Amino acid sequence: MQLALPPDLAAFQLQLRDFFENQVPMRLREPFLSGARLERDWVVGTHQVLFEAGIAVPHWPVEWGGKPWTPLQRHIWSEELYRAGVFPPLSSNTHLVGPVLLAFGTEEQKRRFLPPTASCDIFWAQGFSEPEAGSDLASVRTTAVLDGDEWVVNGQKTWTSLAHMSDWIFCLVRTDPDAPKRQQGISFLLVDLKSPGITVRPIRLIDGDAEVNEVFFDNVRVPADQLVGEVNKGWDYAKYLLGNERVSVAQIGHTKLRLTQAKRFAQERLADGSALIDDRAVAMRLAELEVQLAALEVTALRVVGESADGKPDPASSVLKLRGTQLLQDVVAFVLDLAGGDALAAEADDGSGITAWARRAAAFHLNTRKVSIYGGSNEIQRGIIASSVLGL
Ligand SMILES: Cc1cc2nc3c(=O)[nH]c(=O)nc-3n(C[C@H](O)[C@H](O)[C@H](O)COP(=O)(O)OP(=O)(O)OC[C@H]3O[C@@H](n4cnc5c(N)ncnc54)[C@H](O)[C@@H]3O)c2cc1C
Repeated sequence: MQLALPPDLAAFQLQLRDFFENQVPMRLREPFLSGARLERDWVVGTHQVLFEAGIAVPHWPVEWGGKPWTPLQRHIWSEELYRAGVFPPLSSNTHLVGPVLLAFGTEEQKRRFLPPTASCDIFWAQGFSEPEAGSDLASVRTTAVLDGDEWVVNGQKTWTSLAHMSDWIFCLVRTDPDAPKRQQGISFLLVDLKSPGITVRPIRLIDGDAEVNEVFFDNVRVPADQLVGEVNKGWDYAKYLLGNERVSVAQIGHTKLRLTQAKRFAQERLADGSALIDDRAVAMRLAELEVQLAALEVTALRVVGESADGKPDPASSVLKLRGTQLLQDVVAFVLDLAGGDALAAEADDGSGITAWARRAAAFHLNTRKVSIYGGSNEIQRGIIASSVLGL
């Protein structure tokens, strides 16, 4: 979709486009463009280029490194970022723990943690899910017991994205096992992953990669001042965080990037001497995806524009649900364009099989995750039924 922007916003857009295309080195953009596995050096490297330019956390308050931008300017920022193939600033920092600290942290916690969170000098992992607590997050069993001026943590987290390359983890822990409601006995704790007693064990997934982990806590001692906000109020903070997560995982800019790439692949790839894009069925599928994406973008702009004080709107569940479905549809389309070449995942550059086709199957498998994390799409349907439709 092409938004007709007024001149000042059009100039703003061009300025960002110039920055992303010319100031973020191709060395940092290429891995994301090609759908390569996430590596700490280019993820952090990209984040820090944006931080140094003052545009890593535009949605934060200005005093903490944000920009006085309108929701539409932030949307343009995101559009242009993805358009250039720039991996976004680490969302566990910028959209998850950062906003929680801003909203609920003490002044001391803000001063200590917000600057290195904005700059990615701390790489955060999210320690919410446990083996018996995924969708039913209020069942978390990892305990934290106060001993003097330290919390002693025992238990296990799982599916923890990128914990093997993270510095710190923010966790939901049970601080009152006897609370009348399960949600009332949970707290939000910040833990240094280098603390004695922590073991991080990678889990290999269906795409062959190991980007998630199990994290074990064995009598890990955590200074009491690393508990965010109030004891036993962690559930409120988690709900706030999950609302933000759903908006950030709608991935509209990302889907646009992948759809633009798919169009190029369909133009380049030949079948019986003709470009695949000249096949009527391929062209129709592409057009359908483009229309669906444009509709989602308009909805996203409306939700972003209407959410007061940056508070997540319940409609964020609609964005999460539809956004992740569309990303999966686009990635499945790329897999179909690759056809049998997608089976040659282990082939090398000399094989004559294009790199995107070799990567298509792993990327398709990896993208299954987007309808699971951030609250599975089934859970989003439940939220839409109760909070949006009032059923
Ligand atoms: C790649 C990946 C990365 C992840 N990264 C992180 C991370 O960094 N940190 C973190 O804390 N967690 C992370 N997660 C965990 C993720 O949030 C959970 O997997 C998710 O919440 C689902 O929980 P579960 O796996 O325990 O499945 P379950 O909750 O056991 O659900 C199993 C199935 O039942 C369905 N279901 C469950 N309850 C309901 C219901 N009430 N109504 C309808 N259907 C229902 C679910 O949709 C799902 O299909 C990640 C997961 C993946 C796959």
